[in-house]
Amino acid sequence: MRIFKFGGASVKDAAGIRNVYEVLQIVGHEDVLLVVSAMGKTTNALEVVVKNYMDKSKELKESLQDVKKYHSEILLDLFEDDKHKVFSDVAAHFADMEYFLGHNKSPNYNFVYDQIVSYGELISTVILSHYMNYRSISTTWIDVRNFIKTDSTFRDANVDWEQTQKNISKNVKRKQLNITQGFLGSDENGFTTTLGREGSDYTAAIFAYCLNADSVTIWKDVPGVMNADPRYFENATLLNQISYREAIELAFYGATVIHPKTLQPLQGKEIPLYVKSFLNPKLPGTSVSKGADLDPQLSCFIVKKNQLLISLSSIDFSFIMEENISEIFALLHKYKMKVSLIQNSAISFSVCVDDKFGNFQELKATLSKKFKVSYNENVSLYTIRHFDDKASKMVEKDKKVLVKQISRETLQIVTLES
Ligand code: ASP
Ligand code: MG
Repeated sequence: MRIFKFGGASVKDAAGIRNVYEVLQIVGHEDVLLVVSAMGKTTNALEVVVKNYMDKSKELKESLQDVKKYHSEILLDLFEDDKHKVFSDVAAHFADMEYFLGHNKSPNYNFVYDQIVSYGELISTVILSHYMNYRSISTTWIDVRNFIKTDSTFRDANVDWEQTQKNISKNVKRKQLNITQGFLGSDENGFTTTLGREGSDYTAAIFAYCLNADSVTIWKDVPGVMNADPRYFENATLLNQISYREAIELAFYGATVIHPKTLQPLQGKEIPLYVKSFLNPKLPGTSVSKGADLDPQLSCFIVKKNQLLISLSSIDFSFIMEENISEIFALLHKYKMKVSLIQNSAISFSVCVDDKFGNFQELKATLSKKFKVSYNENVSLYTIRHFDDKASKMVEKDKKVLVKQISRETLQIVTLES
């Protein structure tokens, strides 16, 4: 079985959905499972709905209306007959969402978030599934929440592999086209959970692992994995082949083309991963598989914007030692900071983090009891794998460098944006 993942950009409008059909015509759709994200920027739009709801904002209705309108325009474009069942199926999901908004009593932001934001994927897969049937490809729509079981860490749930493995091996049918939602799961009480933003790649890897799939293909709007993000660097080059290890490194440092959690399940079973263009499905794209000899010798550039550089020093000039550092890390973990660089000296300790959940103020208050805390917001972290002089000069040019760190394969630079 092959697993295909189609992200938000590939299904952002009616033309995108039609293109998925075209891609399937070219590459085949028997014995395939499609993992699909919410359409276009729907997840962001639903985040606005959640925020308005929690803030009891007057704009709640309008923000919800925007999401409905976006989907209904796509539907009207795809299906000639507005009596088609897809219209009532999509409307039923919106009605469920509104029912939840009307009856929910939980003040837990992350819980509410998952209950609402998940409709993006539920609706996109309903539309795609109906559209395939409409074009005479029969499909089985799967509610992923009956398959991927997680703990109750809303917005960043951890997979219960044992339960998930059981559900998937028992109930996913082969030899047909299955369509399911990326990014979602459910906890033991049956509440919807999500696996972290951009988590649909990970969903594809979970299914691949549990089904011993032949391969996973992530269909993208770029030709494959590039050595640099074309939005920030000129002359970005396609990497034809890389090892799991290199892919994990690139994803870990922030290359957004593959979600970092995706590689681990695949490499354990040596399931190949392809990253290909949904605009040119016949091109080979990038293949990720075993073997360090595949790795590119050219420099790879990764940029993470909007990072936070926190520096701690001891108030009384005492050393920052193991004990302090373990305490600092416990706090970083508690406040869900994703650490991407660490540097320390005798009396100071710096970390560059991604404050994905907006917890910095709380963290700062706690840290300030013990340390002198200084910080820079909105810094950028540049990582160069397989760096050379030319590459580092290019990145440093016209920027104020706050931290620079060199290891054998990797150069990292934290800069203030000018
Ligand atoms: N729709 C989710 C997001 O935008 C998951 C995904 O696209 O992978 O974060
Ligand atoms: Mg998305």
